[in-house]
Amino acid sequence: MVIGILGGGQLARMLALAGYPLGLRFIVLDPSPDCCSSDVAEHLCGEYDDIVLLEQLAQYADIITYEFENIPTVAVEYLQQNNAIVFPPLNALAIAQDRLNEKTMFNDLGIKTAPFAAVDNLEQLRQAMATVGWPAVLKTRTQGYDGKGQAILRTPNDLADGWESIGRVPAIVEGFVKFDREISVIAARAKSGQTACYPVAENTHKDGILRLSIAQTDDPIQALAERYITQLLNKLNYVGVLALELFQQGDELLVNECAPRVHNSGHWTSDGADVSQFENHLRAILDLPLGSTDIKNHAAMVNILGKYPNIRAVLENKDAHLHLYDKEERAGRKIGHINICSKHRDDFHETIRKVQTLTNS
Ligand code: AMP
Repeated sequence: MVIGILGGGQLARMLALAGYPLGLRFIVLDPSPDCCSSDVAEHLCGEYDDIVLLEQLAQYADIITYEFENIPTVAVEYLQQNNAIVFPPLNALAIAQDRLNEKTMFNDLGIKTAPFAAVDNLEQLRQAMATVGWPAVLKTRTQGYDGKGQAILRTPNDLADGWESIGRVPAIVEGFVKFDREISVIAARAKSGQTACYPVAENTHKDGILRLSIAQTDDPIQALAERYITQLLNKLNYVGVLALELFQQGDELLVNECAPRVHNSGHWTSDGADVSQFENHLRAILDLPLGSTDIKNHAAMVNILGKYPNIRAVLENKDAHLHLYDKEERAGRKIGHINICSKHRDDFHETIRKVQTLTNS
């Protein structure tokens, strides 16, 4: 069985590594000649909307999935016209590409968000501030990730610069949430309708980029997070792994965004859960029974950004599991991560601290 993946970055690489034990082979379509999954998958090198390459992908792959949400929807439509089976479904991809549609859908389902308004010009932005309140975050409707395409608005003086800085494109403005913590929840839904949800992770970001995820055990907010993500999975008739990023304020959760794919805050599952998010995504799209999402011990993940740490020093920590993506060092680039899985809570937090120091995070 051959799995096709639109996108050949680290998420595709980890999907392939999780799929080999299941007897799967992989082919990726990615514009970068040295994309980091080309060692573990066949690589079709070209743009996502290259019709010839999409036809080849449809021909070689039995099932096609994607590893990031900015894939043009026309690519998926074209694959489907060529009788390819693509999961997660197109409607989920389309919704996740547009922050306005995404947040509107959450509210329609009764899932809370920060107050938000659509803005297409500076005048609308001025007017929207009356409903959204200060401070606020201006975000492009499409193409934003890792904090890109965003501006924080603290006073009316920030409006014009903020509007310029995001490129004067259709946007949403939303209230700045003074959250107690950021969490994410990840769940899988198989074609059969079976669902399985991982324990929520508590996430720490710096400059809009994820640095640390700590999987939570017996978290009181788990039930609400699970209810929200299950509502979404069913509403979208979803197949695959879905991630939901949320802000917690007291007992309440406000959803920030969803990602129709495996997610950085779920990388801990490779070593810390019975079955990883990567394997469960593959099981889901293949309509196989989903594996246990239970956490084994204490589990966390620290991202490696920009520069490789001292590998020997990392591995001297017996609870540290190193995952490198075979990428060149570049400021701010995600080039690997370290999972920390410990039996004892004290060792766990001590190892997290050491690994954070080694990775400068
Ligand atoms: P996003 O690209 O929407 O995932 O945002 C990246 C990060 O910016 C989030 O993980 C938060 O740390 C922060 N952020 C985004 N939106 C808000 C908001 N409305 N209020 C407070 N912080 C935010």
